[in-house]
Amino acid sequence: EAKKAGGGCYHFYASAMTEQSQLRIRLEADLRRALERNEFELHYQPLLRLQDGTLAAVEALVRWQHPDRGLIMPDSFIPLAEESGLIRPLGEWVLREAARQGRAWLDGGFDFGAIAVNVSSRQLERGDLTATLSMILSETGLPAQYLELELTETTVMDQPEQARDRLYELRAMGVELSIDDFGTGYSSMAYLKQLPFGKLKIDRSFIRDIPDDSNDVQITSAIIALGHSLGLNIVAEGVETEQQRALLLELGCDIAQGYLYDRPLPAQALLQRWLKARPEQVAGS
Ligand code: C2E
Ligand code: MG
Ligand code: MG
Ligand code: MG
Repeated sequence: EAKKAGGGCYHFYASAMTEQSQLRIRLEADLRRALERNEFELHYQPLLRLQDGTLAAVEALVRWQHPDRGLIMPDSFIPLAEESGLIRPLGEWVLREAARQGRAWLDGGFDFGAIAVNVSSRQLERGDLTATLSMILSETGLPAQYLELELTETTVMDQPEQARDRLYELRAMGVELSIDDFGTGYSSMAYLKQLPFGKLKIDRSFIRDIPDDSNDVQITSAIIALGHSLGLNIVAEGVETEQQRALLLELGCDIAQGYLYDRPLPAQALLQRWLKARPEQVAGS
């Protein structure tokens, strides 16, 4: 449209910029209000063990139920929340809501493995994440072993020294730590192996074109071998096809997550489709 406007280009861009920054300001105010009005919700996506198809964990993914604009996905508001600092209260809400949900599932006798929550670098850099988390766990009564935190390579590489201490504190509390979107950032294996991670999630971009793209097959295979040599459980993100599943199983990948199994679902739907009574419950009945 700008091209068609010809000489009007400058005006087009100028007004587009203004519109964009206005939209941004409005969105930021909206985000703030949304927190107060409780417009966020968590959806949960299952992670399955490739060997036997059993549920290993569920990942909590935030959505914004906007009164006018409907369901808004995290890629459209998490970056803004990070820039504006709103990620801290939002991230805290996510942790509390996930912990509350986990406790409710435990109370109902359901087996969900663990709940994985995404943590942004702004939350880790604050330094009070351990304290906040331990408060949330005691408030909700969720034992730490049912919680996993997902952090990207970039988050830990941002401030390696600081991140290291904080990750050890979190791990000492009993929460599991996962490296998210592995392969998209840069991180040295020498450094990663010093960190108390238990899981490594291979980014979706490597999984997308397997088995057709032989480079991606080689990369995926190498990440699995490398991760295993560091004692990590390997998760493949974005598994959409049966061919991908079969190859990942053959390559020794431990866990898969993706549309092949299910999309992220509201808590009630996840319960109906995926959660079973906990083994103790079955044995006891
Ligand atoms: P992520 O942590 O890597 O989460 C996985 C994303 O991949 C989710 O997108 C999920 O819906 C999507 N996905 C899962 N399986 C498939 C598949 O088979 N195919 C395709 N094409 N996509 C698949 P979603 O829910 O839109 O979240 C996007 C990103 O937003 C997340 O990526 C995470 O980085 C961020 N995010 C989500 N919730 C939170 C949160 O509570 N806090 C923070 N800080 N970030 C969050
Ligand atoms: Mg994640
Ligand atoms: Mg991921
Ligand atoms: Mg990803």
